[in-house]
Amino acid sequence: MARPDRYIGRFAPSPTGPLHFGSLIAAVASFLDARARNGLWLLRIEDLDPPREQPGAARQIIHCLQQHGLHWDGEVLWQSRRHAAYRAALDTLLASGKAFVCDCSRSQLQDSGGIYPGTCRHRALHPASRGAVRARVTRGAVCFEDAIQGQVCQQLDTEVGDFVIRRRDGLIAYQLAVVVDDAHQNISHVLRGADLLDSTPRQIFLQRQLGLPTPYYAHVPVAGNPQGQKLSKQTHAPALDAQCAVTNLLAALQYLRQPEPPPQARTDPAAVLDWSARHWHLEAVPRQRLISLC
Ligand code: GLU
Repeated sequence: MARPDRYIGRFAPSPTGPLHFGSLIAAVASFLDARARNGLWLLRIEDLDPPREQPGAARQIIHCLQQHGLHWDGEVLWQSRRHAAYRAALDTLLASGKAFVCDCSRSQLQDSGGIYPGTCRHRALHPASRGAVRARVTRGAVCFEDAIQGQVCQQLDTEVGDFVIRRRDGLIAYQLAVVVDDAHQNISHVLRGADLLDSTPRQIFLQRQLGLPTPYYAHVPVAGNPQGQKLSKQTHAPALDAQCAVTNLLAALQYLRQPEPPPQARTDPAAVLDWSARHWHLEAVPRQRLISLC
């Protein structure tokens, strides 16, 4: 299917905690790329996994984006309100045999090194049976050209295996929801952290199975701590202090190897972003998956 004509980008945080410097980098990069190309920039809150969410985090994220001058277009899309769409995609995949139910327990699969060994592939469990739902992967590499990282290929059958699109506990997996929503929002360009580079072939595979368009992808390096671990809630990344919004934005621009705004363009977050959108160079973003901060 053809990609949409208009540039539409997005930022899609999971409300597992407040925004930190690592998430700001993805937000700033996707915002500037969209604004530099006169595109729209949408906000989607990926609140599909209540056990991992932190109460109040979604509102905090929204407020923090606003305080950093990162204003999105249109309404916020909440994944928690999109269950009917995910259910429809799941039913389509199950009905055509492109997905199947798997009732294996974690312990049954633990010896397969993280790659699903195909246990339930041919068992034809009824679609309404209890268990996880897995996408049935096919042979052959799924490749795409990432605008920053270059060509990426993955052999889903040998490197990933049939992957989960609905968990055993009934929750829709990120891989399916992101594909359904990127298509629903007509996203043409996905700019996000390189921790999701390895997920992209799975997403492209699902787009093809569902007859949905594939957006352009660009994966920016993720920020790491001095130990080389990705900044995240788990690695205790501090929340962004919105009192220092201009300083935070300047640090994000430096991290993305973008030109430094002159003093007159540093008066407030909007001025920084406005100047930076006019001087944005995607080509300058380092082709690395992780850059540690000192
Ligand atoms: N919700 C995901 C996260 O916060 C990002 C999803 C995406 O950009 O595709 O890591």
